[in-house]
Amino acid sequence: MIEASEVPYRMRGHRVHPFTTDVIENIAQRVCQILKLGRRSFTPKQIGSTIHTLEHHGEIHVDVISNDEWLDYTKATVDPQAGMIYMPDKLHTELMRGKSEAIRIFLHELGHVFLCHKPLLHFSENPPHETEDSEWQADYFADAVMQYLHIPLKEEKQLELRFF
Ligand SMILES: [Zn+2]
Repeated sequence: MIEASEVPYRMRGHRVHPFTTDVIENIAQRVCQILKLGRRSFTPKQIGSTIHTLEHHGEIHVDVISNDEWLDYTKATVDPQAGMIYMPDKLHTELMRGKSEAIRIFLHELGHVFLCHKPLLHFSENPPHETEDSEWQADYFADAVMQYLHIPLKEEKQLELRFF
């Protein structure tokens, strides 16, 4: 129920079929189980074979674009129906190093694929809700995978040297 005084939700992406947090968590866990993804799947040692698995068992392809050809308005992009994820070389390098932020962006794009995002063709009279926002759903998917696999969301801070 939306209160009259409540500010309407501002969509960040396309309006898609709504998914609740429970449903997205469930899909995220099933994806991890089917593709046998674990915490180590996103470490520098294993990320290469994880991408290989996605290509061969998930029909998802990662296309790395050179930095100077990349248009900088987005960090990565995806064509969910074609299963194509495009990213600049710089993000790919960070992903290969197992950087949390890069993993999260990658999982966000995978979320668009696994949640089968395509804009709804009908127009609704009702104001949109975050559960219908493709960007909110993809973010939630990425966080759900990271939480399920116990991948820290933030890079562990380097210990500062202290002199007493
Ligand atoms: Zn997105």
